[in-house]
Amino acid sequence: MKPEFAICPSLFAPASAQDGILSRLRIPGGILTTRQCEAISQLTDQFADRSVQITNRANIQIRGMQTCLDSETLNNLQKLGLASSIESVDAIRNIMSSPTAGIDRQQLFDPRPLVREWNDYLIAHPNLAVLSPKFSVCFDGGESVSVIDRPNDLGLSAEQIDREIYLRLYLSTGDRGDAPHDVGVSIAPAQVLAVLVALTEVYWDYTCKNSHLNSQAKSRKPRLRELLAAHGVEAYLHDVENLLTFPLMRSPKSLENPNKNSYKHLGVHAQAQMGYSYIGIVIPLGRLDSTQFRGLGNLAEQYGNGELRLTPWQNAIVPNIPNISLEIVQKGIENLGLSWSANHPYSSIVACSGITGCKSSATDTQAHAKSIALYLEQSLVIDRPINIHLSGCDRSCAQHQKSDIALLGVTVDGKEAYQIYVGEEIADVGSKFGRSLKLECSTESLPNLVAHMIEIYQSQRISNEQSFGEFANEFFNEMSIEALGKNVHA
Ligand code: SF4
Repeated sequence: MKPEFAICPSLFAPASAQDGILSRLRIPGGILTTRQCEAISQLTDQFADRSVQITNRANIQIRGMQTCLDSETLNNLQKLGLASSIESVDAIRNIMSSPTAGIDRQQLFDPRPLVREWNDYLIAHPNLAVLSPKFSVCFDGGESVSVIDRPNDLGLSAEQIDREIYLRLYLSTGDRGDAPHDVGVSIAPAQVLAVLVALTEVYWDYTCKNSHLNSQAKSRKPRLRELLAAHGVEAYLHDVENLLTFPLMRSPKSLENPNKNSYKHLGVHAQAQMGYSYIGIVIPLGRLDSTQFRGLGNLAEQYGNGELRLTPWQNAIVPNIPNISLEIVQKGIENLGLSWSANHPYSSIVACSGITGCKSSATDTQAHAKSIALYLEQSLVIDRPINIHLSGCDRSCAQHQKSDIALLGVTVDGKEAYQIYVGEEIADVGSKFGRSLKLECSTESLPNLVAHMIEIYQSQRISNEQSFGEFANEFFNEMSIEALGKNVHA
């Protein structure tokens, strides 16, 4: 019998991609054990393309499978805690938390117990399988490596009010890919689970009542933002409050957008635990071969506490390393062919699967991202991460937020090319990639053009505080980019 494929893949319901069957493992909080790393490495060696892909939700994807996983393999993954014990809820999106939860020197609150409790709640309630598989919850403990700006349906971020810790509620009231917004509700940690349950129940009720609206697209379930757009935040909170035995505590909304992370987790960082550090590792385009993945798990076992953490920036962290062992772990990372430097060109280059993995792609984004990284490595010393995002079409699967430089794959005269976008603040109407420079660049010229732009930024910015986006807003326009060289064709 031909298998039925899902749009949002999970282990029990994989998707079909250009390069074979694609399966996704939910990793709550992005925390893996060495044993789980070994099991994933064996899984991809046996059934897939011997590689492991870290997603922008700190999940794991394995690609290139020729057949779906058999029930014995799935059972083994359940026993190892790599698959939900209840199949139907396995597709619900991964629970996100800061990759430095519990070890970050700035954190106000350790969200890891809440991640476990919420995961247990989801597994114990198979009726929630009717929700959109994109339903997503994020816990932010006030760490320096913040995740509250990541696109999620619900966000809870630690704050201090009169010396007490609360979790502030954020909801996805914006467009697809936007960070959730502060809705002016602060929740005591002991009440968070009850509030989350009530928020989910009201959304569940809306889903059950409105699924018929999507009968033409059977697999399309309403998103939480659709409920919020239809009824408004206050009506939603009112319905939630009706399910609670206590009132929601209102507090003034913050006018500021949540912090944008700048790849702060990469490199060596002292932990809250005296004498221990973590190392953030650059994972090129989020992909490792199984030997590298197994090797990182082994380093964590030998020198850390046996934990490998995945980040929503498609990188990884080895935590809890005694400071005395830092050098040997750094060497071990290098021996695996990886870097731990935030200034490595791969630190902040992101690309979707491109033409080899997705039929919607106009370009081979993975190959072109590698060409850019190689050229930057050979031609330039980068003094801070510059976020470069290559997308094979305007769905922007690899990264929903604006980047420093966005490269959108297009076809020009039958050839692959890229449209260039820059800047964070001034967006063209309708462009989620940033400000369009209104030209296309050939794939051959792309590495040189990107290197020129970074070189100009590094040599001409007005101060070290000026971000690439701010500089680009002032400096780069259609004319200035054309003047960068004959390599660029309009
Ligand atoms: S952004 Fe477009 S081309 Fe890239 S993986 Fe998503 S749908 Fe495919």
